[in-house]
Amino acid sequence: MKLHKASAAVTAALVLSLTATACGGDSGDDGGSGDGGGKITIGIKFDQPGLGLKKPDGTYAGFDVDVATYVAKELGYEAKDIVWKESPSAERENLIANGDVKFVVASYSINDERKKKVDFAGPYFLAHQDLLVRSDDSSITKAEDLNSKKLCSVTGSTSAQNVKEELAPKADLQEFGGYSECLTGLENKAVDALTTDDSILAGYASQQEHQGKFKLAGLKLSDENYGIGLKKGDTELQTKINEALKKMESDGSWQKAVTANFGPSGYKNEPAPAIS
Ligand code: GLU
Repeated sequence: MKLHKASAAVTAALVLSLTATACGGDSGDDGGSGDGGGKITIGIKFDQPGLGLKKPDGTYAGFDVDVATYVAKELGYEAKDIVWKESPSAERENLIANGDVKFVVASYSINDERKKKVDFAGPYFLAHQDLLVRSDDSSITKAEDLNSKKLCSVTGSTSAQNVKEELAPKADLQEFGGYSECLTGLENKAVDALTTDDSILAGYASQQEHQGKFKLAGLKLSDENYGIGLKKGDTELQTKINEALKKMESDGSWQKAVTANFGPSGYKNEPAPAIS
């Protein structure tokens, strides 16, 4: 009898703790119910000017930030209700699967490998893989030139994968956790090129501290369709986000955000992709 009581107590405690977890206790979300009462945690990049950047004053700016803010608003959350979570390339699937974020808007290309773990809304932007080299370097003009070079890319990015699998399998590829480390390496000649999406590279090249130091090769090495990553199977959220993205395009907010965020770098973007 005693034993029975004890196990009942254990079960009750377990149910309680499971309920607490289901309410999203640690991320502080209200589960995205859209009633406007709670907070929503959204994954973005913190180190990509033009896309997702944490500024020295602690505020956030970029195209992904604007897209995320628009979508959150459509889901019932004001900008002040958003908690931004840094989402490095290699951690995005885990952050989503673990429920640390409601969704991820972080230069996140849609592909089949990732779709095994997460679902995507969108696409909301089309970029292309490119190379960033030092301004005075004329030895790298095409992908094959990389085969004898030191190339930097970020762990868990499609760019690193593309280099290894097809673009330049013999390149001395160094994978770092973030793009800032690659930039330092490019500047001090530890690496000869940095590869990722042109949208990201344009932002770095135009930064004040990099003025005149780097140039983009201008190669469209791949198509990178950016999607909003969300928990696998959450079709309700996926549909709501797709509706928000369609509205963002049709009411002119998409173009406004593009001009505001990519204008300063002179990046020539592709037209808004059709949302599937
Ligand atoms: N868009 C590419 C990707 O999702 C490269 C940029 C990034 O690492 O965020 O892997």
